[in-house]
Amino acid sequence: MAHKRKRSRFTICIEQLERGQLSMKNDEVIALREAIEARWGDANGYKMRRYVDKFWDRTRRGRTITALVQGNHGDYTVSIDARESTLMSACSCYKGKGGYCHHCAALGQTFLAKPDSFIAIVPTPLEDVHDLESLKAYLNSVTLVDLVKQLRVNGIIQKAFAESIGMSSRHLSTVKSSELHNRYYHELGATKLACLWVLEKFSKNRKE
Ligand SMILES: [Zn+2]
Repeated sequence: MAHKRKRSRFTICIEQLERGQLSMKNDEVIALREAIEARWGDANGYKMRRYVDKFWDRTRRGRTITALVQGNHGDYTVSIDARESTLMSACSCYKGKGGYCHHCAALGQTFLAKPDSFIAIVPTPLEDVHDLESLKAYLNSVTLVDLVKQLRVNGIIQKAFAESIGMSSRHLSTVKSSELHNRYYHELGATKLACLWVLEKFSKNRKE
């Protein structure tokens, strides 16, 4: 009898956890939907329509969606970010830096039509990084902007950090902002790793 009671309490805990995750997921999907409808609710041009539902590698991290699409000059990475009150979008095509190209609008329409076709990705916590595969997942889940902000919180300014790894602060700024526009410098991952190393070594709250 005692055993049975234990199991049912456990089951209730799991159900509550799943319900919690489910409602968070719904909130994120609703926030994305509302932001997309506000920006592109009436978008209907031919240039946009021919890209709707042509995306692959569709992922959703919280309130951010990303996918790839084949354009006139190669494959483009397209993203929509509804974390802040103002929607941010970006595309790696030649005119998509500001997020106003038809690929961004098409990604929005694709999400409105098939939100469940975007695979929800839960960020990998740093403590769960144990091999190269999980390292790659972690580095993809955190932006250089966020890591440089964390350095700042720990009293390390960007200019000093950049100089310590032989990079100009201006170039670091370019690598940072390019990532937000889906343009990736080869040194992006290495620069993120350098941030993590410095955070681990010099963080104010580092565990001794
Ligand atoms: Zn584009």
